[in-house]
Amino acid sequence: MSTRVDPILLDEIKDYGAINPEACFNCGNCTAICPLTTDDHPFPRSTIRQLQMGLRDQLLESADPWMCYYCGDCTRTCPKGAEPAETMMAARRWLTAQYDGSGLGAKLYTSERAVFRLVARYVVLTLVAFIVYHALTGFDRIVTDRVELNTFAPVMLVWAFVLVHFAFLGFRLGKNTLNMANRVMRSTSEQVKIPLSVYVSEFKAFVTHFVTQKRWRDCNDVDHSRWLKHLLLVSGYVTMLVLIVPLLWWFQTDNIYPVYHPQRWLGYYATIVLLFASVEILIGRYRRREELHRFSHPTDWLFPTFILVSSVTGILVHIFRYAGWAWPTYIMYVVHLMAVLAMLDTEVGIGKWTHMIYRPLAMYLDAVKKRARQEKSAPELAPAGTD
Ligand code: SF4
Ligand code: SF4
Repeated sequence: MSTRVDPILLDEIKDYGAINPEACFNCGNCTAICPLTTDDHPFPRSTIRQLQMGLRDQLLESADPWMCYYCGDCTRTCPKGAEPAETMMAARRWLTAQYDGSGLGAKLYTSERAVFRLVARYVVLTLVAFIVYHALTGFDRIVTDRVELNTFAPVMLVWAFVLVHFAFLGFRLGKNTLNMANRVMRSTSEQVKIPLSVYVSEFKAFVTHFVTQKRWRDCNDVDHSRWLKHLLLVSGYVTMLVLIVPLLWWFQTDNIYPVYHPQRWLGYYATIVLLFASVEILIGRYRRREELHRFSHPTDWLFPTFILVSSVTGILVHIFRYAGWAWPTYIMYVVHLMAVLAMLDTEVGIGKWTHMIYRPLAMYLDAVKKRARQEKSAPELAPAGTD
């Protein structure tokens, strides 16, 4: 592993939201109090040390920032006000940007103007797409005496666009995830040859941590309330993704189904959960009472705001459609699409959302490393005469 020292690393991480990492004098209180740290991963002290010493390559190859769940215990016990929890958060933003080769992630985290430009791009593109479509098919074909959403925005056309967009987002996410895996495994792969069977047998660690995010429970979450809320948010988000990616052809309909029909209650479930979770997060960030809400980077506001706008506009489309108001339904549908597209493009693969993949991946790769080391040392430890 390279030990090249980079004197600008500390300032660079401050651009991503680290507050006072230079004040750390390496006492280790934070690591001693952290409920998630281990002998192999003595964060946050080790991460702050890497920053202070400018060990860029070591930080790039470290999965430690992904193992922190931001309970804030370390910050409460730091005698120097070095804000270790916020430094871990900034390190995660920095790593997310480094895994993304396009540079878009870096712009997103370091320039509010870039965020504005990206959102504006989706607002304009969506608007232009609708204007061009209706200019080509004839504005007089828009039905206004009743609501016909699938005439205004034909579901198969919208669905085709959604699938193409998701193919692009999936490619970006997959590329960045591979980038992370290559970096995190680099030093171990140089020392130990890891058989494919180890990657396969330990994959259950990825699935378990992805589905349950169970380390939240160990992170100063005595009554598990934060973990449960996060689980609820993920369930709402996944339900909505399923409804709009593989099932849009079924979900976007002009039929009015009875309230017990799954098309309605699945939509209601996802919308209510997303609405509740986004409002709760935004209020928490506004009040700043909890440790994890004391500092908010602009991108911390972005994701819950997108979820809130998408949920509210989705609800309004629903209400206007049932009320039979054609133009309010169509206009709100366009706004809803703008919010969803901008959210997906600023989050998947480059934004805060991506921790859903990187956190379980960090735990999975750690399990692979441990198993590979065990397998390497097993024959050496076996008593003479055995095989
Ligand atoms: S961040 Fe604070 S508690 Fe942690 S090692 Fe530095 S000075 Fe000590
Ligand atoms: S925020 Fe919590 S989990 Fe993260 S390093 Fe500090 S004590 Fe550990």
